[in-house]
Amino acid sequence: MPIKIPEDINFDSDGKYISCLKIPHSTNTSGWGSLMMPLIVIRNGQGKTVLFTGGNHGDEYEGPIALRKLANELKREDIQGQVIIVPYLNFPAVLAGSRLSPVDGLNMNRSFPGDPQGSITLMIADFVFQQLVQRSDVVVDLHSGGSSMIFEPCTVIHHLDDLKQMKETVSATRSFGAPISLVLRELDSRGMLDTVVEKSGKIFISTELGGGGFVSPRTLSIAENGIQNILRHFAILPEIDETVPETRFMETPENGGYIMSPNAGLYEPLIELGEQVNKGHPLGRLHSLTEIDSPALEITSQVEGMLVTRAGRAPVKHWDTIAVIASDFDVSVYE
Ligand SMILES: [Zn+2]
Repeated sequence: MPIKIPEDINFDSDGKYISCLKIPHSTNTSGWGSLMMPLIVIRNGQGKTVLFTGGNHGDEYEGPIALRKLANELKREDIQGQVIIVPYLNFPAVLAGSRLSPVDGLNMNRSFPGDPQGSITLMIADFVFQQLVQRSDVVVDLHSGGSSMIFEPCTVIHHLDDLKQMKETVSATRSFGAPISLVLRELDSRGMLDTVVEKSGKIFISTELGGGGFVSPRTLSIAENGIQNILRHFAILPEIDETVPETRFMETPENGGYIMSPNAGLYEPLIELGEQVNKGHPLGRLHSLTEIDSPALEITSQVEGMLVTRAGRAPVKHWDTIAVIASDFDVSVYE
């Protein structure tokens, strides 16, 4: 049975609705059980609709915490338009603190546009795409690095063929106010929430706000300020007389920007996130767990730029991403 819109939510009528999606979930200990996945809708008059999602991956926490606080604090009379909040998008994964769903093993961000008859992740993806994305003008999907990676806090957008859509996306990204904005071309964009929203012609912004399975005061405040800034940018909240922090637009060179671990071992980072490097600059050392008398393998940067991502855990496997270097990207053609 597909997921239905809860009876206590009315998308077309002003109000603040705090409800749950009822997702059928039969287990050994709860034969006719359901998961009750939070969904918050706040509407006041005419205006833009923004959908905020957190917990697309269940081990990324800035989104869930910031959106939970937003859902508690935002009042109907504060806004003009509609705000839809899904704090825990892959709800079973968030409950388990894992990247992927423990129920069907699926990655939510490879499951769009979903399937109403499919397994639990596909059912949620279908509901979110059909019922929430379609109602929205803007989608902000708050990610962090998860347990296995740590990011210098950034917003993430993609190269879009539609110039008007690209310009609006760049402008909204600037308004978020993260220290860095990455402009990416995904290697494989199939099944991503990003892709289905962008293909629908809507504005889509993602983030990578930290990671390692924890939150920091800095990354959480970037998330919370970014949410408020987006609401002001789209005139859902009134403007205030305050300048948004400058963001630095960057891209990751496809050749040499991504550094994978050449072997399994323990990764020792040698520089901090946000540091600038030249080609050949040492980034870290890989220590073999088996060949105890062999020297550590030095990992060096293949390009000039800034370290924006590194492995979030010391133990790494062969071909894990251990470092990502970004270089400046000129967005002036989109402004
Ligand atoms: Zn993620």
